[in-house]
Amino acid sequence: MYTRHLPVLCYHAISSSWQATLAVSPELLTTHLKTLARRGYVGLTLAEAERRRAERTLPRRSVVVTFDDGYYSTLLAKPALDDVGFPATVFVVTRFVASGELLSWPGVAHWAKGDHAEEMKSLGWGDLEHLIECGWEIGSHTVTHPRLPELLDTELATELEASRASIVDRLGRCETVAYPYGLADERVALAAARAGYKAAVTLSASHRVDSLYRRARIGLYAADDGLRMHIKLSPVAAALRRTPFADLAQGARTLLRRT
Ligand SMILES: [Zn+2]
Repeated sequence: MYTRHLPVLCYHAISSSWQATLAVSPELLTTHLKTLARRGYVGLTLAEAERRRAERTLPRRSVVVTFDDGYYSTLLAKPALDDVGFPATVFVVTRFVASGELLSWPGVAHWAKGDHAEEMKSLGWGDLEHLIECGWEIGSHTVTHPRLPELLDTELATELEASRASIVDRLGRCETVAYPYGLADERVALAAARAGYKAAVTLSASHRVDSLYRRARIGLYAADDGLRMHIKLSPVAAALRRTPFADLAQGARTLLRRT
């Protein structure tokens, strides 16, 4: 079996002043990317990486950088990516791209009402066109950012199909999808395949499932500098995430959070 290791990194917003876990400063992003470039990694978009993986021509050290949600601040990541010559894949929530309203869904909605409302600004179609011209990929993060495993079959199909259709309509293609909150069970993965995507990504501390429609990603957040960064970006840690130990560690963390 062809099992070349392919780290797929997941970022959200880019900001130096916003004290949210999901906002990484441009300086920290630069440190992450320079660390990878120094180690000889080559950056690919997700669609290109999957194509190369299928053709068995994936460079030995490849990495995919992705951004979820379509924060306007994603544009601030571009100089750091340009510096190392990596493209990125941005997963957008199409309702917000189309309407221009501030990004808002359970988990981030409070930010849209506070002092940092500006950080919740969405990328627009014009910004996405520009990113595609620069070699980036635009994928889907659904229409409204729901928890997909909780939807009825028809709602699930609409979230996956309608978001893909509007991206294809405006930008010409949409080959990949990132599940909101990283959540996908077998039914969701099947629906993504049926909706016409070529690959899909999750987001979890444990990566037991790593199939074409549930590719694992490494979430990188504001606290991921120093040793934490080195552990997250190490191939050894990636291998560990695919073992039962990762499930145990994740279970323990969840339990601790509940108590
Ligand atoms: Zn999201």
